[in-house]
Amino acid sequence: MNSKLPQVGATIFTVMSRMAAEHGAINLSQGYPDFDCPRRLRELVSERLNGGCNQYPPMAGVMELRQRIAEKVAAHYGFSPDPESEITVTSGATEGVFDAVQAVVHPGDGVIMFDPAYDCYEPAVQLAGGHAVRLPLTLPDYAIDWDLVARNINSRTRLIMINNPHNPCGSILSPADLDHLAELIRGRQIYVLSDEVYEHMVFDGLGHASVIGHDELRASSFAIFSFGKTYHATGWKLAYCVAPPALTEEFRKVHQFVTFTSSSFVQYAIADFMAECPEHARELPRFYQRKRDLFCELLAPSRFSFTPSGGTYFQLADYAAISDLPDQEFVNWLTREIGVAAIPLSPFYRTPSGARHVRFCFCKEDATLERAAEILCRL
Ligand code: PMP
Ligand code: GLN
Repeated sequence: MNSKLPQVGATIFTVMSRMAAEHGAINLSQGYPDFDCPRRLRELVSERLNGGCNQYPPMAGVMELRQRIAEKVAAHYGFSPDPESEITVTSGATEGVFDAVQAVVHPGDGVIMFDPAYDCYEPAVQLAGGHAVRLPLTLPDYAIDWDLVARNINSRTRLIMINNPHNPCGSILSPADLDHLAELIRGRQIYVLSDEVYEHMVFDGLGHASVIGHDELRASSFAIFSFGKTYHATGWKLAYCVAPPALTEEFRKVHQFVTFTSSSFVQYAIADFMAECPEHARELPRFYQRKRDLFCELLAPSRFSFTPSGGTYFQLADYAAISDLPDQEFVNWLTREIGVAAIPLSPFYRTPSGARHVRFCFCKEDATLERAAEILCRL
């Protein structure tokens, strides 16, 4: 078989969650909550499911949902996208990333992304015939080196992919980072794909710097958000893309032939919930900061070293004081022998950094974090 993605196997999330299940380990690997989504939201889903919302919704998403998204984006980022021409609902952010890449990347185009890069980015670029230019984030804080980006932009560069807050590192971009990016693409035919699925998980009083809130970047960007993260419902696979009309038009050409549209009753129910509980998203940073603080406090006596995560629901930890194993072998051992599953960082790199870092997911019940930390503190 002449594979189009010869280097791709099962994702590290599939591999580690499977290993955790096989060995009965506490699963702090794949990012999903072990608590349920809000009861009211589940009731609304059931009402809509039983209320006849079961046929094809519009290709771009249910209009009520797009209107609620526009209001929410306006409330958070000071710009109200047009639900008709600038918002598209997708089946997960994974679909949104894929659609945006297919929409603008032509064979031979260069796409800049940053290592460690979320796993679905490069395969999407490859399938579009593009060429991934993977630039390292700089240690210790996993920041973008904008001079390095400037040196790697050329006439073939078509897209720059950023992820803010960053999975797996938990780093966040500042308004100054966005200014740098805007400056670099000014006057060029280069687009931005900004993966902001963790927009409401930014800690320590810092606001989320969205490309939507940046007047210049917004004009060239696909901004991708996910209901899965915000409503603790990763299994529903519902997300949306905000982009200016010309980009949205191209995005929808792809979307309509990838999935055409997404589950109807869930879209209606989320629209209802957003109208009823607009405070849910506002409360999320505090909700997750408490979990981050708890996990960090519990892990403090261990031999892992770490800087508390700035955003996302992931915490990186350096295990150099515990083991010399490479990260994949370390997490295999941790899962099979110790009973806690984590994610290694090397699968997110083209050229691994050599850092001894693993990622723990803290969107878990306090009791789960306590049990895991107790085990990790014995190492
Ligand atoms: N981007 C990032 C950075 C993610 O962490 C994830 C998922 N967990 C996604 C995209 C995909 O989100 P979804 O489940 O909505 O497809
Ligand atoms: N984004 C999730 C994580 O980082 C995984 C999603 C998936 O398994 N595709 O853990």
